[in-house]
Amino acid sequence: MFDGRREFERDGEELCAVATSVLRSGAYILGPEVGALEEEAAAYLGARHAVGVASGTDAIALALRAAGVQPGDTVVTSSFTFFATVSAVLAVGATPALADVDPDTLCVDPASVEALLDRLSSEGRCVGAVVVVHLYGQTPDMEEVAEVTTAAGVPLLEDAAQAFGARWDDRHAGTLGVAGCFSFFPTKNLGAFGDAGLVTTDDDALADRLRLLRAHGSRVKYVHEQVGTNSRLDALQAALLRVRLRGIDEALAARRAHAARYDAAFAGVDGVEPVRTGARRVHTYHQYVVRVGSDRDELRRRLRERGVETAVHYPVPVHMQPALAHLGYCGDDLPVAAEAAERVLSLPMFPSLSDEEVDYVAGQVAASL
Ligand SMILES: *Cc1c(COP(=O)(O)O)cnc(C)c1O
Repeated sequence: MFDGRREFERDGEELCAVATSVLRSGAYILGPEVGALEEEAAAYLGARHAVGVASGTDAIALALRAAGVQPGDTVVTSSFTFFATVSAVLAVGATPALADVDPDTLCVDPASVEALLDRLSSEGRCVGAVVVVHLYGQTPDMEEVAEVTTAAGVPLLEDAAQAFGARWDDRHAGTLGVAGCFSFFPTKNLGAFGDAGLVTTDDDALADRLRLLRAHGSRVKYVHEQVGTNSRLDALQAALLRVRLRGIDEALAARRAHAARYDAAFAGVDGVEPVRTGARRVHTYHQYVVRVGSDRDELRRRLRERGVETAVHYPVPVHMQPALAHLGYCGDDLPVAAEAAERVLSLPMFPSLSDEEVDYVAGQVAASL
């Protein structure tokens, strides 16, 4: 699915050189490396501010707090995402309300968000934010989403953990709402060598609140204006990410080329249907995902025997997670997400895959159906 050792070798010498220089510098948390990464990431993405934090999960939780979400508020998000999106909502004391997804892209369905916001408003619930998820590396229809959130007067946040470099029209994911939340978990499009994250925003006051929140609410040492947390980014991760950021366009181009090769191989093959790319979107293919018609577990077992590792993102939609049973959902409530969870299959995807490996995987999938 992902080979971290091979990915390291793409620019290993430079990575070792910058790591050594950070180790020799004596400065390990925040500082000039983090400042430089923030500036370079903001410039690349076209955001006014970027604030480095400890993880993608923290990026979402801190962005929710900085955007004014209060304990007891409701936060609307997609039911088809990595659980961290919802953990972050729960971490700030808010209650998640889950929307269904578009059957083509599996990103949130704006009509489902609209219906949910109407229902929550009629129940008198206070909605603090809508968090869209750029699933697998592409955005939902951001024009429709923005129409719905603007009409409801609710701040729009982006979980762009899988979408560094993705675009809606000519704008980058992470710059389409009040704040964009990125993860640099090692397997992500821009991957660190440990946990790391980032929040982007054009709002000066929001950026200032984020900087306070990530460092115990303190601007002047030992004076705490607010109760924040420790979510600082390490200098080592920032320095390594700066190297990776210089190669991001090449890495994304490789992912897109692999995706195009898989698409071509599966054209006309019954029983494998690639998740579609929506109009006006530039996809980053954090994951390459197909829907399969046959018994997925059996297919995975056969592929494993032929040396092909696969994954399922995600086998249980958020609304059916045991940890959220208290919210009272049943599977039928969000049928598109429930169906997708039974059918999706992610294939190997990372920049240093070779064309021969992609062809081998595609051939083995077609032969194992
Ligand atoms: C990876 C991921 C996160 C969490 O990021 P971490 O850095 O692992 O905390 C959140 N949301 C989505 C959609 C993700 O894929």
